[in-house]
Amino acid sequence: MKLTRRRFLQGVGAGLLALSLSRLTPAAAESTVAGASPPEVPAYRTWEDLYRKKWTWDTVTKGTHCVDCYPGGCSWNVYAKDGVVWREEQVAHYPVIETGVPDMNPRGCQKGASFSQVMYGAERVKYPLKRAGARGSGKWQRVSWDEALGEIADHVLDVCVEDGPGHIVYDFSNIDFGPSSAAELRFFSLLGVPTMDGLAGGVFGSAFMAYAGIAYFQNQINLAAFSATLAGAILAFLWFNIPPARFWMTETGTMGLTLTLAVIAFMTDTPGDGYGVAALPIIAFPLVVTVFSNVIQVASKRLRGKKVFRIAPLHHHFEAIGWPSYKVTMRYWIIGVVCAILGMTVALLK
Ligand code: SF4
Repeated sequence: MKLTRRRFLQGVGAGLLALSLSRLTPAAAESTVAGASPPEVPAYRTWEDLYRKKWTWDTVTKGTHCVDCYPGGCSWNVYAKDGVVWREEQVAHYPVIETGVPDMNPRGCQKGASFSQVMYGAERVKYPLKRAGARGSGKWQRVSWDEALGEIADHVLDVCVEDGPGHIVYDFSNIDFGPSSAAELRFFSLLGVPTMDGLAGGVFGSAFMAYAGIAYFQNQINLAAFSATLAGAILAFLWFNIPPARFWMTETGTMGLTLTLAVIAFMTDTPGDGYGVAALPIIAFPLVVTVFSNVIQVASKRLRGKKVFRIAPLHHHFEAIGWPSYKVTMRYWIIGVVCAILGMTVALLK
């Protein structure tokens, strides 16, 4: 028999009808079975149910995050059920500080929104661990909070009494502007521990002055004025940032200034006619060293299982080997000025 298109469609339709009827029959039969109770519905049948259940809460409390962030200390509503945080939501109740200036609402970033997931992550350290083998061997033993805090306090006191608080290295990274930083800074400043106040300000000030000079001699007057203004602003900041600092730059400031420096370097550079970018590693040499010391340290720990520097970045290594922080800062300033002059000369002698 010749199979035409019409016959084929008729056959398929009949087949589908037969199949659907055969499925309907047992269902109808089941429903007529006397006394049969419907199957029990499990608490969570599918992900949709789980998601719907999420929307009922036992408690809604206020919370925030102590991470390396800015602005930090944002206010969030924390929704918990059965003792588990399911969701966080920006509170958005910050007042308008000045008319015409955008307010902070809703304040909170994507890190904050996912913070409760991280909190239950398998990799999260939930209790104090003490190294139980050689440094870098990855062997740890669990200790109590009392033991951990007691041991740290003993070491801090020993160093303060035997060598002086100047021998404690306070690594200023991982700071936020929230609740944790205030306590940290207050504690270390009461203890008399020096911080690297002024180091970044001095280095950035020299670098921006170098680009002001390069831009000026290339007749980019607006760019020269902008760079000089930045250098002037940094000097004003430095006035209050020298030890004991009243203002801190931290990573928020350094990231913004680094990007601005890179943009200015590109603007003083015309491909084939200009050395603004080529001079950047020379002018910003102390910053380049800082970045590479971190990269080297991490790579060495991963590949060789041991550190190159006692502490990275490099300026903390100098502190750890006994240089007082003012000596590290002054030497970075000197190197920064020399590199700025050298880089400017290279750029202008094109
Ligand atoms: S992680 Fe984000 S939301 Fe949380 S406190 Fe820091 S800046 Fe604010």
